[in-house]
Amino acid sequence: VTGVIWREEIAFSMSAGRFFVDPAVLAAPGEVILPSEIAHQVRAVLRLRPGDQIILLDGSGAAFVVALTAVEREGVRGQIVDRQMVATEPRARLTLVVGLLKAAKFDWVIQKGTEIGVSAFAPAITARSVSGLEEAGPAKQRRWHTIAVEAAEQANRGCVPAILPPRPLSEILAGDGPILVAYESTGPHALSIDAVIRSIGYTQEKAELRLAIGPEGGLTREEIALARERGAQIVTLGPRILRAETAAIVAVALALAALGDLG
Ligand code: SAM
Repeated sequence: VTGVIWREEIAFSMSAGRFFVDPAVLAAPGEVILPSEIAHQVRAVLRLRPGDQIILLDGSGAAFVVALTAVEREGVRGQIVDRQMVATEPRARLTLVVGLLKAAKFDWVIQKGTEIGVSAFAPAITARSVSGLEEAGPAKQRRWHTIAVEAAEQANRGCVPAILPPRPLSEILAGDGPILVAYESTGPHALSIDAVIRSIGYTQEKAELRLAIGPEGGLTREEIALARERGAQIVTLGPRILRAETAAIVAVALALAALGDLG
């Protein structure tokens, strides 16, 4: 067993770059031909040479160790020499629902949430959410996806979280599976995320959990009442009022810790 672990460490530690690629890049017969933007990074930024190894990720949790065979201005090619499942992906699948925030704050939530282990982001249109973001066009979606890819590469993840199009909170609340809604005005007997996860008997293996955080202006009483009607668990993040972006990250960390994913 030591030998296997050692081999895995060697393969991953020797690679100087980790890149998510379209699965088609890895499925092509024969040599792997790197997409131009990654080829540029390998050749001109990382200055790798033939024989060096990189890791290519197909986004499903699989990682491919690729030994470079050609590093030229015309293109970079390599051979797949190993394939591993990335061991860092959370087994629990967390969807972070966040009332629409100002652009820079939502970018920050995507980056930090990806690092911690969010599996999907669901921007919610709420009574007090920041207007103008409802129509998240292709350019914004592409930008959000790029932020998630870079954060996932940096965090050694095997998957890139999905970023769903903005939808009204009422529609999201009608969705399946447990949802925990963070509310800062729950009063002294509110349940913590840990208490709720323990009470519903969740373990890492089968957790499909949604965590909902309001926008900067908070969720209205009516939105909280609707959430309760739809079976949501209302939770507290403690006695202090957190900014929405802080609350989002704290909630994800508390949930993953309660599920035993953070060691
Ligand atoms: N009422 C807040 C205020 O007075 O500033 C506005 C909402 S707070 C800035 C943004 C969101 O973070 C809330 O909608 C809630 O989801 C979450 N939040 C912040 N602090 C929280 C706490 N102590 N417990 C539960 N949720 C909290």
